[in-house]
Amino acid sequence: LQSKLPHVGTTIFSTMSQLAAQHGAINLSQGFPDFDCPPALVELVSQAMRAGHNQYAPGIGISALREKISQKTQELNGHFAHPDTEITVTSGATEALFAAIAAVVQPGDEVLVLEPCYDSYVPAIELSGGVPVFVPLRFPDYSVDWQQVEDKLTEKTRLLIVNSPHNPSGAVWQQEDLAELTRLSQKYPFLILSDEVYEHMVFDGQPHRSILTVPALAQRAFVVSSFGKTYHTTGWKVGYCIAPAPLTVEFRKVHQYLTFSTATPFQHALAAYLEHQEHYLTLPQFYQQKRDLFASLLQPSKFELLPCAGTYFQLARYRHISDQPDVAFSQWLTKEAGVAVIPVSVFYHDGQDHGVIRFCFAKKEETLRAAAERLCQL
Ligand code: PMP
Ligand code: GLN
Repeated sequence: LQSKLPHVGTTIFSTMSQLAAQHGAINLSQGFPDFDCPPALVELVSQAMRAGHNQYAPGIGISALREKISQKTQELNGHFAHPDTEITVTSGATEALFAAIAAVVQPGDEVLVLEPCYDSYVPAIELSGGVPVFVPLRFPDYSVDWQQVEDKLTEKTRLLIVNSPHNPSGAVWQQEDLAELTRLSQKYPFLILSDEVYEHMVFDGQPHRSILTVPALAQRAFVVSSFGKTYHTTGWKVGYCIAPAPLTVEFRKVHQYLTFSTATPFQHALAAYLEHQEHYLTLPQFYQQKRDLFASLLQPSKFELLPCAGTYFQLARYRHISDQPDVAFSQWLTKEAGVAVIPVSVFYHDGQDHGVIRFCFAKKEETLRAAAERLCQL
């Protein structure tokens, strides 16, 4: 059989979580919380199930949830997205990313990807016959080199994929990034796919600068988010996509045959729980405390932490501990030191290795303390 994705193996998240389980390591690799979601949310799911919301939801998502998403988007980003024509509920952000790419990328189209990047983008581009064009983020601050982006734009560039707050680096966009993107969008006709799943994890008093805050960008963008990140429910796989009506029409053509609809009881629960604005408004403090705790616990270690402005990931250099490549070092750390992490080179198409690993700090204090104790012994 001729593989359609010859370069793809098992994702690093499955590989490292399995290795962690096999060796009894503390798992700071795959990004997910080791604490539970708000109990009231679980109660709302059972209520929805008892109320008989157990059959297919409308393909585009239940109206109560789309309306809540619309209200929240208006309040936080000053952008009105019509719940009927511009918002689609999806089975996680992963599905939304795939559907957006499949909806607009034609064979031979170029898609600009800023590296390192989340690992689902490139396979989705390739399955659509698109050609990924890579632009490296600057090392070590992972900021965007807009001159390099401009140099790579051509008349074949169909889509530019952006992600702030950024996985794996934790970098967040500044106002000048939005300004630069706006400038380029006036010169070239590309569409934008903005992965904003970490929108509520931005630290040190900075705002999340959504693509939706700039009307000129919003009018040509798919903006994707995920309730998994915001509500500590990564296992529910509920996300959504906001896009102008003509783009949403195409998006929904793919979505209806990819998954058709998303789990009904979860949608009812989330629609009701979205009332509690304090949940997402206090999330930056909640995760900033974890970031700061983890950093202070690693202070005596030989790891050098890179700045983390957002997300629940902390990058670290390990050059004072080992000169192994990052994949080998991550495996060694999991097996020998008992802490599983993600090597950052896997997020580059050519495996660029800067000697950097990614820790996930969406963990209970006791988990972070136990991991740090092991890491400080190296
Ligand atoms: N994009 C990024 C940058 C992510 O880190 C994740 C989290 N796994 C996703 C998309 C996918 O989100 P979901 O679990 O909702 O599919
Ligand atoms: N987004 C999560 C991470 O970066 C993992 C998602 C997954 O396991 N597919 O770790």
